[in-house]
Amino acid sequence: MRGRFGFRVPGSEFTTAANIGGLRNTCNQPLRLVLYLGVHIVTYMRISVTDRCNERCAYCMPHDVTVEWLPRGEILTYEEILRVARVATSLGVTKFRVTGGEPLVRRNVAEFIGELSKLPGVTDIGLSTNGTLLASLASRLRAAGVTKFNISLDTLDADLYRELTGTGRLADCFAGIEAAIETGAQVKLNCVLMKDKNDGELVSLVEFAAGKRVTIRFIELMPVSTSEVLTDDNFLSIGHARRIIEQRYELVSADVKLGNGPAVYYRAEGLPIHVGFIGAMTNLHFCDTCNKVRLTADGKLRPCLGAHMEFDLKPVLRAPDSTDARLRDVFVQTIRNKPEQHEFRNNYIPGRKMVAIGG
Ligand code: SAM
Ligand code: SF4
Repeated sequence: MRGRFGFRVPGSEFTTAANIGGLRNTCNQPLRLVLYLGVHIVTYMRISVTDRCNERCAYCMPHDVTVEWLPRGEILTYEEILRVARVATSLGVTKFRVTGGEPLVRRNVAEFIGELSKLPGVTDIGLSTNGTLLASLASRLRAAGVTKFNISLDTLDADLYRELTGTGRLADCFAGIEAAIETGAQVKLNCVLMKDKNDGELVSLVEFAAGKRVTIRFIELMPVSTSEVLTDDNFLSIGHARRIIEQRYELVSADVKLGNGPAVYYRAEGLPIHVGFIGAMTNLHFCDTCNKVRLTADGKLRPCLGAHMEFDLKPVLRAPDSTDARLRDVFVQTIRNKPEQHEFRNNYIPGRKMVAIGG
């Protein structure tokens, strides 16, 4: 098998710093492509800082699921997360995304991000948020080091927003979007596609994003939290969504990479924005360039959102004889077990709620 940068990777053999350590890049700096398995080069980590949320989206925390927040003692402290992040950067991770649950419900998240941004080699810090608490925090978050805001917006209709999220805070979300744009950071809107819910609004959502000159991405429902989250009755594919939008705007394939994710981007003719599509269920190349690992709020390292596998860092972090070398071993084990593809298309039975994993 040949890796992305042309190194020969025998089978799924894992390549570590030790055995590529002698290689140097074109600037004659030591190569830091350490977490490397086949075609997966892990440079990106999503950090869930909380499993709690101030909303309750139907596809994330379905109403038939009893929500029991993790006890506080189970959640990693910021110091523990920073230690894990430091180990990650020593292994070649350069980009972080802070998420949840809703990351802005955790106190002092801006201060935490300030510390995260000081770690060596960090080039990017994204924040995923529902936007409802963002208005008063955006400039502080930006000053702390957030370079990218991803804000969830599934509908422009206040009644549907209330139905989908369990709260009526659409105006707060709009204010959060405005505040994020004012910071000058990159802003993207994320919209989960739901048949018979927001399929009639896709063009309006594109026009809303165009009015703000921000990218919008449409995301296929994934079977997380419970199997009932995704059914034949509510699933709307990205292909179908594209056809709906193309009835009004021609979408021209854009060969751009606007982030670290698997979105495929188009230019909407006549509009000043890109429109992205994230199709975990129907895009068979979805996993090809996956470069991420996830850290759950309770300290599990997950190589893939759509696989049950996870590796527990908490006992290692909290052991009396805890060492960074041992944490590094858990990272290596996690990446060694990174699957080639997610399992969402194989009658996947979710094991953990999305909020407990971190989106
Ligand atoms: N609370 C924040 C928010 O809503 O943006 C961050 C966490 S949320 C779990 C991250 C992303 O996951 C959001 O864009 C949300 O829409 C998405 N998400 C949650 N459940 C999903 C599902 N079943 N299918 C697809 N996307 C989902
Ligand atoms: Fe909360 Fe985000 Fe999940 Fe909605 S998608 S319930 S806002 S964590």
